[in-house]
Formats: sequence, C-alpha cells, structure tokens
Amino acid sequence: MRFFTIDYRKDRGGRRGTLVNRGLFLHQTPRLTPWCRLFGHRPVVDGYDSTYGAKSARWVACRRCGVRPNPQGRLDGDLVLGQAYTGPYGPPRPAKNEKSLAPMPKSDGAHSLPGPWPAHPTGEVGGQVVVGHQINAFAAEVTVGCAGSENTLSAHVGIHPLFGLYLHTAGHGQWLQRRLNAIGYEDRVIGVSIGGGHLRWQVWTTANAWSSSTPRWRDGSLNLSILDRALGPKRYSYEDVQTVTGLLRLPHGDEHLLTLTLKRQTHGRTRGRKTSSWIVGWSCRDGIPYRAGDRVVMSSAVDVRDEAVEDRGWPAEALAAIAYRITKDRTRYGFGPIPDMLVPGA
Ligand SMILES: [Zn+2]
Repeated sequence: MRFFTIDYRKDRGGRRGTLVNRGLFLHQTPRLTPWCRLFGHRPVVDGYDSTYGAKSARWVACRRCGVRPNPQGRLDGDLVLGQAYTGPYGPPRPAKNEKSLAPMPKSDGAHSLPGPWPAHPTGEVGGQVVVGHQINAFAAEVTVGCAGSENTLSAHVGIHPLFGLYLHTAGHGQWLQRRLNAIGYEDRVIGVSIGGGHLRWQVWTTANAWSSSTPRWRDGSLNLSILDRALGPKRYSYEDVQTVTGLLRLPHGDEHLLTLTLKRQTHGRTRGRKTSSWIVGWSCRDGIPYRAGDRVVMSSAVDVRDEAVEDRGWPAEALAAIAYRITKDRTRYGFGPIPDMLVPGA
C-alpha cells in the first residue's frame, strides 16, 4: 500500500481564499471481496462490442466483484457477453525480468487463455479536500463509472464557502458497478446541488451529457425563488403626496431654490407584505455645484422620518439632509474649504 498527497494550491496557482486544496492517493489497497473470498469468484465472459465496425473483445472477469484473472485472457470474439466461463486457465503472467519457464498460454493466433485469479486483488482510492472556496452553495454527487471508466466510483460533497470533499476509487466498489452499470459506455450520476438561485438534480443520468428526451424528474432544475413566482418580485413603488419650494443654504455660503416632493415609498412583492417609508425627491433648475469645475447635481432624493412628516417639518429635515450630503461630496471631491474659515479667529 502506498500513500501520497499533492498540494494543488502550489501546482495550479490556486484561487484566492482557498485555505486547503490537497489531493490524497492510496495505491494498491487490498480490495474487500468477502463473498468471493468465501465462495470463490464467478467467472463470466466479459468484454465489449465496438459500436463502430466489427471490432469486439472478450476476456474473463468475476461477475460478482469484477476482478479479472492475470492475464485476463483473450477469448473468441463470438462468445456471448455474460455467459459463464468454465475454463480452461493458463499459467500466471511471468514476473518482469523473469523468463517464463512454463510455456505461455496456448495461443491460436489472436486468442490466449486467462491466467489464475489474483490472490490479493488491489485497487486505488483518491481524494481531494478543498477548504475555503466552493462554486456551488451546496452540492453532493455520486458517479458510478462504466466498465471502461478510469474511476469505478466517485463522489463529492461541498458546502459554500466552507469546504469540498472529492473521492474516487479504481477497482474498489466494482461489484456495485457490475450490478448497476455493467453495460454501455456512459458514467452514471446521482446528484443534487444548490447554486445561482437554482436547485438542480440528476437521477441516474449520463455524466457530462444532457438529452432533451430525459424526463425532468431525472434531470432537472428549479428556480428557488418560489416567492418570486407566487407573490411577484420585490419592487419599489412611489406615490407623490405633496410638493413645496424650499431654500437650501449650504455651509459654503451659496443658496439654491429647490422643488421638494414628499413621496410614500413602498417596498414589497406584488401580492406580499409591504413596508413603507418616506422620501423627499428634490430638483434644482440650475443644479448645485459639488466639485471643482462646473460639475453640478440637478436632482436626487433623501429619506425623512415619520415624525418629520407628522410634524409637517419634513421640508426642513429634507433640506438639512441635502445640505449634509452635498457638503460631504464637496469635501470628497476637492471643492475646497469655506473661504471665511481660512482666516484665523474670523
Ligand atoms: Zn469475485
């Protein structure tokens, strides 16, 4: 058994905010095949038929656990896939750099016999741990590879922005693959994810492929903002209540005549609960300069409190708020100090 890890943050530059991105690999781990250990393997003819042309291949594998003899043998391409294989078996594959003393499996041209079953079948397990950065809000997925897949089983789970965990096996779990996805060339996916305001699900769909003939219950998504659809989207609406003229006096000494309109602002869904507040929209015919040069602001809006409206003092509160905001802009954009203030003691 061999174990090693890779720090992907170093290898691939890494994304900002990723605290951990590490790959973990366990090679040559013993495969657990309890049934086959107790009762022996169940040899069948395994292989594939190419969808293009007449090419096909046949070898021997255990129907239950997927382990193959070593060598796996090369059988007659006309044998039926899945039929029981009762023998014969040839000698083991000679070790590297060792000349075979026994004659090689009898070979009639293209065909050769399978060797003995491996005494200690091994597989591989790999994983990846990401901490600190994930794309989806939540995702969980299990993939069952096809017979030709590099990965027999793979799975991942992640919660944004905390962590992601990925696992895959080679060899391990082949009994599940043989039971669920023995035929065909497509990996199969079961997964659910939440991200971008959508819930997505896949129930035994082919990986990396989408087909319009797949029913929605097997491969679909749902806009999570059910409230948007049921009650309408969140919006602001305004109702003009009263309009007055007010004189704005700014600390810099200039004065401006403004039109002030008290508006009832309502926020909420078309058919849902709404919240209301007061705002005052203002406009100034010649504009108010707020930065060096001739940049002016012509109109905007400020909040006023309920009490100011009840008290009918809302125009005064609005003018003070406008003065505060424009003065803040003037100091931010280098409008310059008030001339009087430059004279000490003035
Ligand atoms: Zn077996």
